[in-house]
Amino acid sequence: SVSGAPTALISVFYKDGLDSLAQALVDKGYTLLSTGGTRKFLEDLGHKVEAVEDLTSYPSILGGRVKTLHPKVFGGILGRRNLDSDIAEMNEFEIPSIDVVVVDLYPFEETLASGASHQDIIEKIDIGGISLIRAAAKNYNDTWIIPSREYYAQALEVLTSDSLNEEVRKQFAAAAFRISSAYDTHIQAYLSGNYQNLILGQEHPLRYGENPHQKGSFYGNMEEVFEQLHGKALSYNNLLDADAAVNLIREFDETTVAVLKHNNACGIASRESVLDSWTDALAGDPVSAFGGVLISNREIDKATAEDMHKIFFEIVIAPSYSAEALEILQQKKNRIILILKDFDAPKMQYRSLLNGILAQEKDHHTDSQEDLKVVTKVSPSAEEIEDLLFASKICKHTKSNTIILAKNKQLIAGGTGQTSRVDALKQAITKAKAFHFELEGAVMASDAFFPFPDCVEIANEEGIKSVIQPGGSIKDQLSIDYCDQEQMKMVFTGIRHFKH
Ligand code: 5GP
Repeated sequence: SVSGAPTALISVFYKDGLDSLAQALVDKGYTLLSTGGTRKFLEDLGHKVEAVEDLTSYPSILGGRVKTLHPKVFGGILGRRNLDSDIAEMNEFEIPSIDVVVVDLYPFEETLASGASHQDIIEKIDIGGISLIRAAAKNYNDTWIIPSREYYAQALEVLTSDSLNEEVRKQFAAAAFRISSAYDTHIQAYLSGNYQNLILGQEHPLRYGENPHQKGSFYGNMEEVFEQLHGKALSYNNLLDADAAVNLIREFDETTVAVLKHNNACGIASRESVLDSWTDALAGDPVSAFGGVLISNREIDKATAEDMHKIFFEIVIAPSYSAEALEILQQKKNRIILILKDFDAPKMQYRSLLNGILAQEKDHHTDSQEDLKVVTKVSPSAEEIEDLLFASKICKHTKSNTIILAKNKQLIAGGTGQTSRVDALKQAITKAKAFHFELEGAVMASDAFFPFPDCVEIANEEGIKSVIQPGGSIKDQLSIDYCDQEQMKMVFTGIRHFKH
């Protein structure tokens, strides 16, 4: 050390909390060594502090960019105390052994968040501090790194309980590299212009993840999307459902209500009134609706709320509620009532897998009349086209493989998340029949092309005569020929809507 006693180098940006740690180090016999601001702070507390400037024979230069970057500092941290050649060199170059390093880095993230200028942000890239952290962590064998003020309490405990050993130093070293790598990640994100993507927002811990034994959090600004009027906090699964519901309802301009379960629509209808939309959405699958998420793109009125209140559901989402409707819906204590705000949805979406993240642009394409290419001899009627587009929008938001059957802008049944398209169709037909729907005149939508004509054959047998699909299979012509033979109508959109 500088004066025979073990030495603690302290260089911290935020000084709060440092007093008790410094006192504990002094009590354990450490000599303090500090940079300018930190030294002044400690001296004002009455401590005797050696100046790094005296050790290096350099003042802090370049506006603070170079303070501790010097062989006498880094030699003191990195010198291997059990290696004779290192000890010899430390003696030769009068390098003191530095045994504890306390650093609190320049607040890069905070500066960025404050809206500071580019130049100010660049100046808040800590160089010496990050080097001190990495050096001391590398040499955890001999040097103890306390890498941020978040670790003062833990460090104090170690000091007061006299439990400092190599294993403890190793744990602190691991924390040190966690801090340094996170710090650098923020800098690279800022410089590469991806900062908004990295900082998706604040962490909101959730009660648990998908299941009660899994921890879970949401990162983002939920307040931008929802205003919660009533009920318990949204769970992990609630958020997945709410996301699916919002994405789906945003496809529709006309008055529409949807019911979702496990991220898929089990009922949806577009009608003149909210009440009728709700009634016909529920009719799609009144069994699955139990415990589901309800979403409307219009204000929920008293009559609709009264009817909704009859069934058990988890969440209701709407742009607004009449006062009477709200009063009715609030009667269930846990029921989550959300106002959907007019927010700007991000362009990108992310998903974690293996040891990384998948990123893609969201599927922002909404199929419209202009996309449609009639491939059969007979063309669908104007009403059928409306139903085909209605069904296609639902397909886009349903787990693949999916087949959607719809009629008069009402979801009749969907086959969702099946491993074969034929199975998806069969599931949809079975469901439709279970709820007494007349399939004659219904339309069929598929999220991806038909590899074989089997789907159109099965549909035809049930009286389904109009089909919408992206097209693009090498066997398209087989399905088209079958449709022509049976006077069916088929349109291609050219746009696939997989949702895995
Ligand atoms: P002080 O207030 O003691 O003058 O400065 C403490 C801050 O300086 C700490 O946040 C520490 O990480 C940082 N620091 C220490 N040495 C250097 C250096 O050589 N260069 C730069 N840019 N920052 C340093």
